[in-house]
Amino acid sequence: MRPFDRSTVKVFVFVDALGWKQAERYGFLREELPQRRPLEMQFGYSCTAIPTILTGRRPSEHGHLAFYDWAPEKSPFRAMRWVAPFFRPRSFWRRGRVRNVLSRLVKRLWGFTGYFQLYAVPLEHLPKLDYCEKTDMFVPGGLAPVPNLADAWQAQGLRWHVSDWRKPEDENFRIAADLLARGALDRAFVYSAAFDALQHDRVGDDDALRPAVERYAERVRSLLSALAAAGRPFELTVFSDHGMTPLRGTQDAPAALAAAGLAWGKDYASAIDSTMARFWWLRPGAKEAVESAFASFRGRWLTRGEMEANGIWRDDRKFGDAIFLADAGVQFCPSDMGVKPLAGMHGFDPADEDSTACWLSTAPVPPGLRRVCDVFAAMTA
Ligand SMILES: [Zn+2]
Repeated sequence: MRPFDRSTVKVFVFVDALGWKQAERYGFLREELPQRRPLEMQFGYSCTAIPTILTGRRPSEHGHLAFYDWAPEKSPFRAMRWVAPFFRPRSFWRRGRVRNVLSRLVKRLWGFTGYFQLYAVPLEHLPKLDYCEKTDMFVPGGLAPVPNLADAWQAQGLRWHVSDWRKPEDENFRIAADLLARGALDRAFVYSAAFDALQHDRVGDDDALRPAVERYAERVRSLLSALAAAGRPFELTVFSDHGMTPLRGTQDAPAALAAAGLAWGKDYASAIDSTMARFWWLRPGAKEAVESAFASFRGRWLTRGEMEANGIWRDDRKFGDAIFLADAGVQFCPSDMGVKPLAGMHGFDPADEDSTACWLSTAPVPPGLRRVCDVFAAMTA
């Protein structure tokens, strides 16, 4: 094995949804982090990007594209098939607060250690769905059999720290700064996700975003001070997974499918996210019927070539038989993720300019770093 550069402390700060556009618009840490470049988003959501960042593999390999997949044989919720029909009326069981309580209950009863949310998934679909983030992805072995960042740093014999994603981000920055100031670390991965929620609500609103970005700048400056105090050479990088696309319209997939007389679980199965609808065909002719129901929708059916290029093609049908990707800004609403549109959303075409993520560093950008899936190699080089 090649010897590692142990003398340099390397810190990687992840800011969910800090797009290239926002970083440049607000001049985020332009002086402190002068080595900058846009990063191409991994097709999908944060639940796709984070395992990609933590492994350097793409969804076709690590298996995480969206939270829910149609998988009747593997569903951890199979036992719910006896009670699901009694969750009526639907409107009550779709309320945000009811969902949050129910999500916490399911997470505890099922022993999930990863992030878990029921969102607006119809409860009668649940017994036939699998959930992708049942375990904590950040801890050693968290994405086994694929090794993750903690596994890699451990194998390299480094003193490392990865934030606990459950903790408030202020605390995560403070813990990392303390450890770095004491010279206790060779590598650190600092996790923060609150900017994503803010962007979903207030995309394009300078009055809300500029102060938030400035707060991240302050926190990063504290890390830089801690590193300087420790006296070892260091590199610090801030990076993200995607940007945010403003709302430009909605389309109602369940209504279109119902109007075409198509039945979930008989004709087709689906997992409908805000920006993409994935389908499994359950009988001959279902594909053509759904395509016709979607004929007026804004977006396109992905070709196999596009799925392969985006690292989301699998032979085992895990991600669906077909994926309809909405045009940038157009949200499926209602979807399995929510019943109201959000001001901003991500998960559109990675080529859309609002999708682009960022890499901002004290150190020269590694050659070959172009996409979110290249970040892992940069963190473990
Ligand atoms: Zn988000």
